[in-house]
Amino acid sequence: MDSILLRYSPNSTLVHQNGAVSFSTRRTTASTTTTLPFKSTLFGNKTLSREKTRFRPGPVHFSAANSTSASCHTFDVVIIGAGIIGLTIARQFLFGSDLSVAVVDKALPCSGATGAGQGYIWMIHKTPGSEKWDLAMRSHKLWKKFAESVSDQCLDPLQVLGWKKTGSLLIGRNPKELVLLQETVKQLCEAGLRAEYLPGSDLLQMEPELMIGEHSGAAFLPDDCQLDARHTAVYIEKVNRDFASKGRYAEFFHDPVKCLLRSHSTGEVEAVQTSKNTLYCKKAVVVAAGCWSGSLMHDLFRETDIVLDVPVKPRKGHLLVLENFNPLKLNHGTMEVGYTYHHNLTMDPGQQENGQMLSISMGATTDMTGNLVLGSSRQFAGFDTEVDESIIDGIWIRAAEFFPKLRDFSLTDLRSRKVRIGLRPYMPDGKPIIGPVPSLSNVFLATGHEGEGLSLALGTAEMVADMVLQNPQRLMEHHLPFRVDVVDI
Ligand SMILES: Cc1cc2nc3c(=O)[nH]c(=O)nc-3n(C[C@H](O)[C@H](O)[C@H](O)COP(=O)(O)OP(=O)(O)OC[C@H]3O[C@@H](n4cnc5c(N)ncnc54)[C@H](O)[C@@H]3O)c2cc1C
Repeated sequence: MDSILLRYSPNSTLVHQNGAVSFSTRRTTASTTTTLPFKSTLFGNKTLSREKTRFRPGPVHFSAANSTSASCHTFDVVIIGAGIIGLTIARQFLFGSDLSVAVVDKALPCSGATGAGQGYIWMIHKTPGSEKWDLAMRSHKLWKKFAESVSDQCLDPLQVLGWKKTGSLLIGRNPKELVLLQETVKQLCEAGLRAEYLPGSDLLQMEPELMIGEHSGAAFLPDDCQLDARHTAVYIEKVNRDFASKGRYAEFFHDPVKCLLRSHSTGEVEAVQTSKNTLYCKKAVVVAAGCWSGSLMHDLFRETDIVLDVPVKPRKGHLLVLENFNPLKLNHGTMEVGYTYHHNLTMDPGQQENGQMLSISMGATTDMTGNLVLGSSRQFAGFDTEVDESIIDGIWIRAAEFFPKLRDFSLTDLRSRKVRIGLRPYMPDGKPIIGPVPSLSNVFLATGHEGEGLSLALGTAEMVADMVLQNPQRLMEHHLPFRVDVVDI
């Protein structure tokens, strides 16, 4: 089909979604029969060259809008995905520009990976000079400013965000790990952070419940923080909703995105078609759909001649929460150094067929309400989100190796336990993908943050807004590692 037909919607001009009120700009019939002569382009991300991303030549076919039942609304920016990445991007546009923003989600905020996150806003396991370093540093700074802005409104960041400056302890238990930790501390200090190496005796003073052996030690970053992902998302959403009365913000939840509608005359994406609505976008569409972004991009272009492969994969994680677990209260966020191996582990194409690559590493902290939060597992299990009790047992056993007090308890006897499951958006090259899709310059991707999406969110949001707004001062070189790039194949 070579034409687009979007009918006038007789629906009301106010949209009420989950308590938010937004404006609705009606569109009258838009139709064109122009065939768009796209030139043949091959593109993808440089780091993703194993995955071929193709953009075929030929006429563009449009998916017909579900025009008879759908409501039509117009915004400057439409964001797909209400996880931490989508919500913070929306916030960035609302505070940093005068653009109007819609956030669309197939379910609700925190129904994806965000709702499972442990909440570490950490620099301790980031590598100075790496491609993600500047983004991590910027994000860390922005999170601190964010918490301060909450204080400035006479609100308690602990109550509102679960924000605690606990400091982070990265714990080693053999000579090799201790050497690694000392080197880590040296690098972080050289990069300008406050970091300290703690031998076992000092470590024990800071966390008395830790089991300290002959070869125990830790890297300590006193300025690392943690938040509660759910509380933080709720707060950001609430603040974003304040812009609804000004006609600048709307939410469309329980409304999965089905396809994109493109203009024949310019080739630009001009609307996002959800199951219930047609959302016109004057300036940009941002795809921030976490681990679903790859399949979503594929679906969005299914009825066109475009083939777009974004190789983001779901990496399942379990987290165990023991509510009000008084026998063990931790003063800091803790993590075993082995976590960094699993976190950074990338998957060769050949390995994809070799099982789920399950790993469990200890990460333990006490959250804002006194719950003991124990993490976490990593595995490739497709989009499955069922609880696997054997993995929960594994998390418990691993935690008890570091905190022997847990051995006094049987997990089965603990009644007030909860399990959180999330699908981390994993990229094979370990880097998020942030940038415009080549040849679709008003469509932006922001995904693939794997186990760092909370900590990298605010820097990512700023980066996306800078790109959309073409802010020349901040469009600097450090944006390049994450771009969706053209590959010659
Ligand atoms: C156990 C665990 C512990 C973690 N701990 C930490 C930590 O301590 N620190 C840290 O920085 N990070 C941590 N992470 C990682 C972090 O949670 C993720 O990187 C982050 O939440 C990703 O956010 P996102 O917005 O990209 O994705 P998501 O939160 O998954 O959001 C994507 C959204 O897109 C929506 N969507 C999908 N398809 C569609 C569609 N067709 N139409 C509309 N909407 C759609 C989904 O419903 C979802 O709400 C952890 C993750 C896990 C699983």
